[in-house]
Amino acid sequence: MKIAIVGGGPAGLMAAEAARADGAEVDLYDAMPSIGRKFLLAGKGGLNLTHSEPLEPFLSRYGARRKQIEPVIKTFGPDALRTWAQGLGIKTFVGSSGRVFPQDLKAAPLLRAWLRRIRQSGVRFHVRHRWIGWNQQGQLLFMTPHEQRAVYADAAILALGGGSWPKLGSDGKWVDELAKRGVSLAPLRPANCGFDIGWSDHVRTKFAGHPVKSVAVIVTKPSGGSLWQQGEFVITKTGVEGGVIYAVSSYLRDQIEAEGSAILKLDLAPDRDQARLTRELARPRGKRTMATHLQRQAHIAGVKVALLHEVTPKETFTDPARLATAIKSLPIKLTAPRPLEEAISTAGGVRFEDLDEQFMIRSLPGLFCAGEMLDWEAPTGGYLLTACFATGRAAGAGAVAWLAAHVGRRGK
Ligand SMILES: Cc1cc2nc3c(=O)[nH]c(=O)nc-3n(C[C@H](O)[C@H](O)[C@H](O)COP(=O)(O)OP(=O)(O)OC[C@H]3O[C@@H](n4cnc5c(N)ncnc54)[C@H](O)[C@@H]3O)c2cc1C
Repeated sequence: MKIAIVGGGPAGLMAAEAARADGAEVDLYDAMPSIGRKFLLAGKGGLNLTHSEPLEPFLSRYGARRKQIEPVIKTFGPDALRTWAQGLGIKTFVGSSGRVFPQDLKAAPLLRAWLRRIRQSGVRFHVRHRWIGWNQQGQLLFMTPHEQRAVYADAAILALGGGSWPKLGSDGKWVDELAKRGVSLAPLRPANCGFDIGWSDHVRTKFAGHPVKSVAVIVTKPSGGSLWQQGEFVITKTGVEGGVIYAVSSYLRDQIEAEGSAILKLDLAPDRDQARLTRELARPRGKRTMATHLQRQAHIAGVKVALLHEVTPKETFTDPARLATAIKSLPIKLTAPRPLEEAISTAGGVRFEDLDEQFMIRSLPGLFCAGEMLDWEAPTGGYLLTACFATGRAAGAGAVAWLAAHVGRRGK
């Protein structure tokens, strides 16, 4: 039973491990000169492997795709993932936010140990093999530095990633190949991304690179309610980036797509309520400058003052109630999400409606898909890797099960 896996990220590697464990002969192909480049980059941010919150809120992070992701997370979820890492000699710990990391916060030791184990199990790796489609005999076609190579496999698993950070290998070019074969695809879109804002020259030149800390963002959900999320972000030359922005980015992106722009409200003083803020700002200013007054009474300084001036008319500064309202709910107009290449992850991809429960494309028997190339999205917090591992494992086991049934039927 010969299985070809294309893509050596977390999903492809997990598929290889699962298929090999179930007895398949496995070859793994990747376009890059080395395996797991994006996984290694994720390690630069500490490698948030998964999250420790209870399963119910965990599953809710997959939003509209919860139904499809839930069965695989229930089979191989956060706890199983931690046990799996432990099996590679990598201990994990729960950070103060509930996120789970390897003890040394690095991806390289985990990847090294994992690749060693997969290799020892008999999986063959083929780097510098860019998959470009199929030949007329239905064989997988690869471009290598020297030649075009056709490869026969009884089943194939594509784990080609999304379209973000293309220089690490996942460039989303597989979309055309699958579309040609009639596979239904949701357009690839940036997820966990920054946004463009038409900053004034003052903000752009003086504050690009500045973190905005102890801040909360408020966005309107499509269901009508609003979401308040505390965290931090960074001002960039073109707009905003960073953790708390990523957390609400799917709502903002969808709103921009629907309406052409979106309003992000900032709470610049998340630890004070509006009534207290109004009282404090109403205290006599005396001869102090407005900047000193804001700093003393509301702890608003530096980049936060610049943001206030950016969108608030002058008169507001002399009216404590209006100023408090602006500080608690400063409207910033976002004009576009940053391009897919810059995003942390990708929304869109192969639609679940085209897949069976084992992640096989129904119309292309023997072809499976896993990981970020599937049409789901989730916030940062370890949810991305968890679903990549889980779908990879399911596709690997699914391909072997399908082949066993298929070959079994053929043999009868
Ligand atoms: C900066 C950054 C930090 C991140 N941090 C975290 C984090 O802490 N926690 C978390 O959960 N997630 C994180 N992520 C997201 C996470 O890394 C991805 O969701 C995950 O790597 C996707 O896994 P995958 O196997 O589906 O695809 P990928 O990891 O993208 O792997 C796909 C592989 O397919 C190969 N490939 C693509 N096209 C072809 C082709 N035509 N032929 C052959 N090979 C091909 C690529 O070279 C690549 O090796 C981060 C992402 C970024 C960009």
